Amino acid sequence: MTTPTIPVIETHGLWRTYGEGDTAVHALRGVDLTIEAGELVAIMGPSGSGKSTLLNVLGCLDRPTAGAYRLLGHDVARLSANELARIRNHTLGFVFQSYQLLPRTTALDNVILPMLYAGTPRRELAPRATAALRRVGLGDRLDHTPAKLSGGQQQRVAIARALVNEPAVILADEPTGNLDSTTTAEILALFQELHAEGITIILVTHEADVAAHATRVLVVKDGAIASDVRQTPRRARQERAA
Ligand code: ADP
Ligand code: MG
Repeated sequence: MTTPTIPVIETHGLWRTYGEGDTAVHALRGVDLTIEAGELVAIMGPSGSGKSTLLNVLGCLDRPTAGAYRLLGHDVARLSANELARIRNHTLGFVFQSYQLLPRTTALDNVILPMLYAGTPRRELAPRATAALRRVGLGDRLDHTPAKLSGGQQQRVAIARALVNEPAVILADEPTGNLDSTTTAEILALFQELHAEGITIILVTHEADVAAHATRVLVVKDGAIASDVRQTPRRARQERAA
């Protein structure tokens, strides 16, 4: 007998409304979504369709106005603030379009930060951050501040920071939105490597060329899922600059 696996993400009738009354904006209007472990999902859709809102709710950075959300089987609405913070720190990694690294702070210290929130023992901090930065091809840039790194390298630091607590899921909002096509291909190759290692990846993108690298493409329109298609992913170029 096989044990059924728990979906990484399971939502039912998810709504997110900003404001009230006449000025209320319904950013999500009843999203039903199941994502299994090991998927590489691209979320597409026009600007303002609710992609970031959906990603923020899935990442527990925001709470839905209505509906149910289970993350790795946990009913998120029932978790205390501490339990939620713990799950966020240990199971989710975030990557943003604008990298969101601390300026005047080395790559190593940027990657150490989420381990401080997670209460990682002090002696493990530098070795684990170093390993994560090596993993993304930046083993020779540990002491560089963001200003001394290219956009693609800054995004690699952000990915190392997302990886360092060994998350089950990486959530990325337009992670290649500020990058040229060569650098985009390198970042996509890195995401595909992490996916091949078993990490579930959910990324928001405008670009069909980026979404082509996913195993599944969701299109969001007016706060609802307009289409949901599984596909054979295009392989990103494997060569790396750093
Ligand atoms: P996308 O990422 O697809 O561009 P968003 O999820 O950012 O879309 O936004 C969806 C809708 O919700 C838009 O109409 C946007 O203006 C609105 N919205 C997003 N965040 C807020 C907020 N904090 N307050 C009010 N409205 C918001
Ligand atoms: Mg957005």
